Amino acid sequence: MGSYTANRLAGQGLHVCVIEKNARAGQKSSCTGIVSRDCFKLLSVDTGVVQWQARSAKIFSPSGKYIRVERETTQAYVLDRPALDRHIAKQAQESGAEFHFSTFVSGIRKDAKSVRVQAAAQSGPVSFESRLVVIASGFGTSFTKSLGLGQINDYAQGAQVEVAGNGIEEVEVYSGTDIAPGFFAWLAPAGTSYAKAGLLCRSNPGSYITALLERLKQQGKIEAVSGDISYGAVPLKPLARTYADRMIVVGDAAGQVKPTTGGGIYFGLLCAGLAAETICDALKNGNFSARELSVYQKKWHNVLKHELAIDYWAHRFYRKLNNRQIEQIFDIIESHGIHESLLASPDVTFDWHSNVILDAIKHHSLQKSLAKLNSRLAGRSGNVRHR
Ligand SMILES: Cc1cc2nc3c(=O)[nH]c(=O)nc-3n(C[C@H](O)[C@H](O)[C@H](O)COP(=O)(O)OP(=O)(O)OC[C@H]3O[C@@H](n4cnc5c(N)ncnc54)[C@H](O)[C@@H]3O)c2cc1C
Repeated sequence: MGSYTANRLAGQGLHVCVIEKNARAGQKSSCTGIVSRDCFKLLSVDTGVVQWQARSAKIFSPSGKYIRVERETTQAYVLDRPALDRHIAKQAQESGAEFHFSTFVSGIRKDAKSVRVQAAAQSGPVSFESRLVVIASGFGTSFTKSLGLGQINDYAQGAQVEVAGNGIEEVEVYSGTDIAPGFFAWLAPAGTSYAKAGLLCRSNPGSYITALLERLKQQGKIEAVSGDISYGAVPLKPLARTYADRMIVVGDAAGQVKPTTGGGIYFGLLCAGLAAETICDALKNGNFSARELSVYQKKWHNVLKHELAIDYWAHRFYRKLNNRQIEQIFDIIESHGIHESLLASPDVTFDWHSNVILDAIKHHSLQKSLAKLNSRLAGRSGNVRHR
């Protein structure tokens, strides 16, 4: 999100520095790179970054039954995430942004006139002075806390690995508390004989990914693991405050991630665009106060706040279910063709899940069952409620 924001700002003729601890863009990533059509359009990347175009998916219940969803046109793209990061960084460089690789930011200090970023480069300590800083250092960054913006305390841990297989032509999603507790696992095609297997869960992603790979091998879906397992975490809630004097927070650092799927590329990019707009206005007005920059939060809340709240509620509900309960919901969806009616609805999109969730829970048969489950879960934990 840092390079994307830098590109938008440098494109306006501003002097922008990107400070990156890795030696190059796209060096490390645990991201599968699945994005919607809208996100793909926003990125305006060339087709070299696209590994697969998906128009269907199979969603598996804990017992192995599946629902297949399909549309006539491409619904999602599987992107080569490191190549995407390199592409965005190149765009930013071409727009005039200055990149400092192998430079680890160790501290950010503000005073009335500027903000100073201290970092360790290969040549030794360096420092950058600026009118404003964008924090885009991903989930778990210490800067939001040290700068008084707080930290996000609900997150999922994830793992991903490249696998070799034959004939993986559809995205597959696996549910179940023994597969990926609180979340789900996936197998996403990324070429004719190549795919990405991954999962999100509450903890111990290493043991769950090992078990998933073993299971996929036994089922004959994959032949071998062809890369190293990479690990990451995604925030499930946004940061309460994403601005301060001379400072804006974007992307995972701000918690701009879908709590239902852990997808953060599209929402992060949308917010990065809004951050760039706000910064350009602040520069025009010569005003970098928290009050001026609060416009950023108002703008991104207008777009995402409601969506993230509903999605988070749905995620919290899902993560309390046991396998039998997930299976029960699955059976109702399948037997009443709820997935088919949802698919036919224009409300159902890859990125925006709140309408799907609200439409689904309005469905009579599902509503009854969810209400029963909800009261049982509320009785058990006392903290799951419909809003
Ligand atoms: C297993 C897994 C699979 C995922 N799959 C998908 C998916 O399919 N689709 C999707 O939309 N999202 C997915 N996500 C989420 C997605 O990866 C993130 O939402 C996205 O990468 C956030 O981008 P970001 O720029 O905010 O943060 P990051 O991608 O984390 O980038 C932060 C950058 O800051 C740099 N940095 C950090 N600290 C410092 C420092 N002190 N000094 C200098 N540089 C620093 C890092 O090196 C990094 O380059 C997945 C996440 C996981 C864990």
